[in-house]
Amino acid sequence: MSLEIKKIAVIGAGTMGHGIAELAAIAGYKVSIVDISDEILQNALNKIQWSLGKLYEKGQVKESVEIIISRISKTINLIEAVRDADFVIEAIIEKLEEKRRVFQIIDENSPPHTILATNTSSLPITEIASATRRPDKVIGMHFFNPPVLMPLVEIIRGKDTSDFTVQITNELAKKFGKQTVIVNKDIPGFIVNRILARVFNSACNIVTEGKADIIEVDSTARYKLGFPMGIFELADYSGIDIFYYVLQVLVERGFKVHGCNLFLEKFKAGEYGVKTGKGFYTYPSPGKFVKPELPKEKSEKLNPLYIIALAINEAAWMVREGIASKEDIDKACRLGLGYPKGVFEYADEFGIDNVVKILEEIKKEKGWEEYSPDPLLIQMVNEGRLGIKSGKGFYEYGKFEERKLSTIILRIEEPLAWIFLNRPERLNALNLEMVKELSQVLDELELNERIRVLIITGMGRAFCAGADVTGFQGLTPFLAAILSRRFQELFNKIDFYTKPIIAALNGYTLGGGLEMAMACDFRIASEQAELGQPEINLGLIPGAGGTQRLSRLIGEGKAKELIYTGERIPAKEALNFGLVNKVVSHDELLNEARRFALKIAEKSPLSLLAAKYSIKFGLESNIWSGMALESSLFGLLFSTEDFIEGVSAFLEKRKPKFKGK
Ligand code: NAD
Repeated sequence: MSLEIKKIAVIGAGTMGHGIAELAAIAGYKVSIVDISDEILQNALNKIQWSLGKLYEKGQVKESVEIIISRISKTINLIEAVRDADFVIEAIIEKLEEKRRVFQIIDENSPPHTILATNTSSLPITEIASATRRPDKVIGMHFFNPPVLMPLVEIIRGKDTSDFTVQITNELAKKFGKQTVIVNKDIPGFIVNRILARVFNSACNIVTEGKADIIEVDSTARYKLGFPMGIFELADYSGIDIFYYVLQVLVERGFKVHGCNLFLEKFKAGEYGVKTGKGFYTYPSPGKFVKPELPKEKSEKLNPLYIIALAINEAAWMVREGIASKEDIDKACRLGLGYPKGVFEYADEFGIDNVVKILEEIKKEKGWEEYSPDPLLIQMVNEGRLGIKSGKGFYEYGKFEERKLSTIILRIEEPLAWIFLNRPERLNALNLEMVKELSQVLDELELNERIRVLIITGMGRAFCAGADVTGFQGLTPFLAAILSRRFQELFNKIDFYTKPIIAALNGYTLGGGLEMAMACDFRIASEQAELGQPEINLGLIPGAGGTQRLSRLIGEGKAKELIYTGERIPAKEALNFGLVNKVVSHDELLNEARRFALKIAEKSPLSLLAAKYSIKFGLESNIWSGMALESSLFGLLFSTEDFIEGVSAFLEKRKPKFKGK
């Protein structure tokens, strides 16, 4: 079945209506736009003309502004506009009685085949549809502001909406150049606003419960979750009044919200955010947005799951109830909210068991029922579907393959490989067997094209507490020098490895352990980690590159301090002078290492190698030789397939797929 759409009527020429009319005209349809006065309509047409001019300048529309705009006619006569329309999109004020009145008129005056869509953000589609004699042809078509730029449209079924109506509306939205998600039940807030409301509510509760302050929440959202804006920053930017109204409508329709009053207080004080010059942050003048300063280190304290666990719970409920598919929910988060990932992708990354733990903790503390973990999440935990770490969560991940050697565990999680130092009873102390196994595994992984980044971490309380001193007994000076060479050879292999290696420091990182970590490209530390070169306490010095790498990393003075005193320092202090790249909470360590590794794994392996060698050889020779190497490698990269792919992807505005060729 199909429906040929020639003419579209857009009712309401305000913020949304004029943008929707513009989209329809760009897509080649005849458009009639309706409002209650000529002045409003003229104003809308002026805005459309201005916007089309901009799109034309950027080459985003091919036809001239005049041709596109000639398809749009304006009228204050609703009946006239819908008489020959095949599709109507309503975008008038958000009042149920007014929408019902308008829908009744449209129903009585448009052809029987015409589909009637509403752009409502919060009203029940079914109640709007019941004002007509064709509820099967009434549907929600929720655009985002500004419609011309925002890529997503939520398509919402009312109780009686037919599959055919959904299909035609979906096709039309795609002709408008939009991506769509289907919401199968008429629930308040649809997908995007429900997820957003949960994130806002959680952020607000975190602050009122004293877990973190506004800046810490926003910094965590921005830096740990990669959101385009902090939560409170977004509230200020969009208007706290708007959020307040949206939330109120959701609550009126049964959405359970507990706790937070911060939004209400701001609303009552008339502090709406950017538009009034003050909200959660203060702005130079009303209407002037300046991005609030959010120091990155403020993101270290709060576990980001506190921000999104409730949204994940909400999304799990939607999937279980058949309201939307997990893929559509994640798409809605990415395109409607600008999140880098969907909530289910976050859930898989953080671990479903950890999501449940956070929800249960708050439920137990506060008794708020919306924090009761959804049965779907509980079921997943019971079945061991914990997310990436178990190979399966909401999505399936590359098969997990684990191999246990006598001193290490190798886990292949393409494109990553994890090496777990596995002598926890000896705090993962390095012995010759471990050196041998590490070396073997490194050789093997180097030739595996599907592995892009390696992560080394330790089982138990230590990353690695140093060389196994029991092996020192009976060593002659000559044999000790050989032992030192063996360790150095392994760490040199790590240092000049052709793939990036990350050390995830889960605990004690001492002596040979720190020397191994320093040979890696990056060091991410748990806040519980302690670092040091304690060899001096045995009447020795570091013997596996420590005197060289430590001074290169943190400078001669600090290196001497650590080596001469043999003292251990906590991870936070190590971060201050650059011995580690990042410190995260202990629970977050492996997730953070994985996130960081996956980010690098997307890059061209050849560029990564070229960058590594330019940096390393440059540092060890002199700037002139280093620069000569840099230009040679720069030139060489022009001959790679990856470079062609990188440039093509850039021009086509897509993510590159590098092959290392
Ligand atoms: P708006 O106030 O900017 O525009 C509404 C327009 O409808 C006004 O020009 C008004 O004169 C006109 N109007 C009112 N009654 C009318 C009638 N009986 N006949 C013809 N025109 C009439 O509002 P908006 O922001 O464009 O919102 C419109 C709809 O879109 C609402 O349902 C809203 O919930 C929804 N929506 C808004 C946004 C947003 O960010 N603004 C986003 C998504 C959806």
